[in-house]
Amino acid sequence: MKQLEIKHVYKDYPIGNKEKFTALTDINLSFKKGELVSIIGESGSGKSTLMNLIGGLDSQFEGDIIVEGINLRGQPDKILDKYRKNKVGFVFQSFNLIPHLSILDNVTIALTLSNVPEKVKVEKATALLSRLGLEKMLKRKPNQLSGGQKQRVAIARALINDPDIILADEPTGALDSGTTTQILEILKEIADEGKLVIMVTHSEKVASISSRIIEISDGKIVRDEKNKNYKKHKVFSQNKSFPKGEKQNLSYTSAIKLAFHNMWASKVKNILMAFGVAISISAMILMLSFGSGLTDYVTNVASDYNNPLVVPVSKQSTNMSSPLSGSWTDEEIETLKEELNTELKNQGSDFVVRDENLKRGFTMINIAGNLAKVTAIKDGEEVETPIFCLYTTPPTYNETNLIEGSFSGDGQVMFNSYIYQILGQDAVGQKVDVTVTMGGKTIQQNAEISAIVDTSVFENILCMYVDYDYLNSLVTAQDEVLSPTELYVITETEQQANILKTFISNSDKYSGSMEERLANMFSQMSNTISIALAIIAGISLIVSAIMILTVLYMSVTERTKEIGVLKSIGARRRDIHRIFTSESFLIGLLSGIAGILLSLVAFGIFTILFNSLLGFAPLSLRWYYFVLAIGISLIISILSGLYPSAKAAKLDPVEALRRE
Ligand code: ADP
Ligand code: MG
Repeated sequence: MKQLEIKHVYKDYPIGNKEKFTALTDINLSFKKGELVSIIGESGSGKSTLMNLIGGLDSQFEGDIIVEGINLRGQPDKILDKYRKNKVGFVFQSFNLIPHLSILDNVTIALTLSNVPEKVKVEKATALLSRLGLEKMLKRKPNQLSGGQKQRVAIARALINDPDIILADEPTGALDSGTTTQILEILKEIADEGKLVIMVTHSEKVASISSRIIEISDGKIVRDEKNKNYKKHKVFSQNKSFPKGEKQNLSYTSAIKLAFHNMWASKVKNILMAFGVAISISAMILMLSFGSGLTDYVTNVASDYNNPLVVPVSKQSTNMSSPLSGSWTDEEIETLKEELNTELKNQGSDFVVRDENLKRGFTMINIAGNLAKVTAIKDGEEVETPIFCLYTTPPTYNETNLIEGSFSGDGQVMFNSYIYQILGQDAVGQKVDVTVTMGGKTIQQNAEISAIVDTSVFENILCMYVDYDYLNSLVTAQDEVLSPTELYVITETEQQANILKTFISNSDKYSGSMEERLANMFSQMSNTISIALAIIAGISLIVSAIMILTVLYMSVTERTKEIGVLKSIGARRRDIHRIFTSESFLIGLLSGIAGILLSLVAFGIFTILFNSLLGFAPLSLRWYYFVLAIGISLIISILSGLYPSAKAAKLDPVEALRRE
């Protein structure tokens, strides 16, 4: 029965512009099942070209190659892929095993491409490999095998889908004579079982064991003779009860597994690349957490004044770097009062700001540390600590601002929670000496701690609060005048308060409380910094994308041969695409996870740094930053992988296999 017919086949290779080289001229051959055919001929005579046509690796030729009634010429990829997957098996001179896969996986790859269940794959491959004497090598990698063993693995791979035709292009070309005999024996057994085996060889001696010898010279058949001494012997039987996985295709899980194997084979490269991408990803997370950290800080500060009826007013600070405004003169206070009253009138409110509605406040920031200090007795020893900020208790504060104790009056002071670190948990009720230098005069006073104030910011520096009237009386006693830095309008309704708040925030002469100004300054700063960081993160993400693209592109170039092998086994473009896309997916996942870990480390370091420098850390993480990080990392790597994957999928199998 005719298995394969070749009629008037011509094959031209285009060379240069319009020239072409005719590699095969009018080839006419027909083959039957069970033949063991040797094709001999000089190097360059066209043997491999013919094999590639028969194998469906190249459908661009003239004439007809008919296999079981189907003409291979001009068939679409889809048909040829199926043909290679199920009808032919290739064996190459240089074995062409996939180096990063185990022997078992090399043999089962064709079944993987058909999504055959794991159990069936292993059973089938194990049976085949045992028959070829390789049952102990299943877990090994190709480079742990001898040449003859490698070629036996390649034969097992060619046989795994039980094809009708085996094409072996110089299968013994790289083997010594002992091993050559073994491999020829196996090929003979395969033919005797009823398959058509066509092999290319240089050697007459090798050819002499076959049932038929065809000689090609300059692309023409010059000899075609039967070997009369050829005897069939024992039948190499393959268990045929396994189902063929013709319908299914490579699954995503298998593609990811294959991609993982390959990435594992070049771990260092991939880990370094993931680390590079992770740096950009973590920079992005840090940028976001800095943005939200500042927002949180500002919100915290804003929630400090929680009495809606009190409207803080201070003079607009002209100096951005210092949130502190100057102090108010009596005339300025009068002007403010008039302006506020005009505004209230304009807005239809009958509320009038009078002296008794206007409370005063004072803030001093003691940056140098020599203007204010507290001296206390702790465990019988005198301890002295600088007071970083001195506030008069704002009328915006209520009980919720106190951690414990009650608001201070004359002879009393309050501290923030930092005082616990100096005096211990029973700080409230203790007496301390407070020394403050103002206008060149030093006020020294013994006072009782009445409460601990919850400032929610500045927790790592000491801040003190005193009643304004008490501070005023101490200053006056020194023949000095205490000029307020803050003013508070106490309104009767929220509506009045809102009119005044709007007026003040729209005015360029006045602004809200110290905290509000601090908050404004921070949000301005955070906007500038966020934009700068966003640009940096953006650039580094682009750099990462280019890096991934380069690495994947190089990986395609390195693996050209492997892609050729996969195609010869019947991998479709989509399968190759899927394997490479899986690789970029894995890179994205790995980089995203590494980026998150890296950002956590950086977050810890920056938190410690900021805390020790500023007393607070404007950084806060949100869970969705991590989701975003993984998402962006996946998008970047998958996008960067598109081009290399497409390139891999498009590779011409003949070209790819020719590549050394
Ligand atoms: P063999 O396998 O018998 O050594 P080939 O079939 O590989 O020979 O090549 C036959 C002829 O076709 C050679 O002269 C070779 O240079 C030429 N050839 C093969 N492939 C190409 C190609 N892609 N482009 C141009 N010429 C080619
Ligand atoms: Mg060749």
